[in-house]
Amino acid sequence: MSDLADLTISAAGVGLRSGEFSATDLLEAVHKRATMTEADLHAYLTIDRVGAAKAAVAAESAFRRGEDHGPLQGIPIALKDNMVTRAIETTASSKILAGWVPPYDATVVSRLKQAGSVIIGKTNLDEFAMGSSTENSAYGLTRNPWNPDTVPGGSSGGSAAAVAVGSALGSLGSDTGGSIRQPASFCGVVGVKPTYGLVSRYGLIAFASSLDQIGPFTRTVGDAALLLQAIAGHDPMDSTSYQGAIPDATSGLDAGVQGLRIGLITEMMGGEGYDPEVIAATRATVSKLENAGATVTEISMPSVDYALSAYYLIAPAECSANLARFDGVRYGLRVGGSTTEEMMANTRGEGFGPEVKRRILLGTYALSAGYYDAYYAQAQRVRTLVINDFNRAYETVDVLISPTAPTTAFKVGEKASDPLAMYLSDICTIPSNLSGHPGMSVPVGLDAAGLPIGVQILAPALGEPVMFRVAAEIERQAAFADRAVLATSAVPR
Ligand code: GLN
Repeated sequence: MSDLADLTISAAGVGLRSGEFSATDLLEAVHKRATMTEADLHAYLTIDRVGAAKAAVAAESAFRRGEDHGPLQGIPIALKDNMVTRAIETTASSKILAGWVPPYDATVVSRLKQAGSVIIGKTNLDEFAMGSSTENSAYGLTRNPWNPDTVPGGSSGGSAAAVAVGSALGSLGSDTGGSIRQPASFCGVVGVKPTYGLVSRYGLIAFASSLDQIGPFTRTVGDAALLLQAIAGHDPMDSTSYQGAIPDATSGLDAGVQGLRIGLITEMMGGEGYDPEVIAATRATVSKLENAGATVTEISMPSVDYALSAYYLIAPAECSANLARFDGVRYGLRVGGSTTEEMMANTRGEGFGPEVKRRILLGTYALSAGYYDAYYAQAQRVRTLVINDFNRAYETVDVLISPTAPTTAFKVGEKASDPLAMYLSDICTIPSNLSGHPGMSVPVGLDAAGLPIGVQILAPALGEPVMFRVAAEIERQAAFADRAVLATSAVPR
């Protein structure tokens, strides 16, 4: 291997254990890659060189002592900047949190540290994870390594781009309506939204608490399973955290799909807004699964057509409550005023960007007396219909498949002034946030413009093992994983 930054997590683990290279060598390769690519991509908001170097040395001495905390020991990992990190500035890409250095680690961060991984830094996102392109960051946009004129997707665009380009071996993102899966699809990497409750949200800066989940980005399905296992598990600090046994995502990776029942979601297989190349690639993927022994049926889920509208009431409603805490008193920015109220209004007026304000307004309106029943309560009823549709589908199939997003990466600026067009980018991913079910995106090929296409696999609650089993088969058939790091060639080094 010529460049350590191109390694998968599992291959790097082998090299670290055989002594072929050290955790410091690996970190240096990743830093070098970041130095070569950041000027073009801007995947990171903060790179913590000192902290990471210390963690790499600690991992090295652990190896030397014969201490092994598992597959992430010594592995450089990046974090979306809406996960709080002790002593590292955390902004959620908002001006309102500029300069805020949290006094504690999110649970996922402490778990990664316990597993011996090396935290590289914090990646760019749409402000408070509201967006689908990473253009809503208050600190400048991130570009897609496959073509810098296009967006990396969002809101976890920095985490996706870093993994695609090799400035991280893996990363974490958060997915409220598709913010892990859609950027994974746009950047040609694997991205997973776990079952709601599987990964602790403690220390994740809340957007819409009933929808938010943290999950991994990696170059391979196997790596994603390793990273998920490291962060999943009950956490008393998150009251919605799942208390039962954690499903083993690594268990079926080599099992193939013989005998599995796969459903294609009719409503997501074409029509307005869907790129025919994406649909063709999804169909081709499913035929390969059929050839590998799965049975395939089409399943209609009529409610998914209403999921987007329901989401844009529920998510803003929850965000309007969650973002009330940013008032200039407790964290980050404070803009003065002659009264406390004026200070709060000035702080929020200057601190929040336009998309965040739009969401707060929408949410406050949807929750206000007189409109609550017509909007918020109605959206919750649609949410129930979506859950019912999924439950009905999973009576007859093991997993569902669809495109991850209706298109491949779009041009920078293309949808920036049209919020509705931007919202439509998540039409395939939002339903499983409403239901709490797991979903993931796996790259299957490139479109005519050379941009990656992702296919989405959905499974019932705690269905990670079967979801990863199908994902691993798709990955083998598509033979895309080796090409993921070729994205680096798109960026001058
Ligand atoms: N793009 C969607 C939104 O803007 C989803 C964002 C997310 O999953 N965090 O709300």
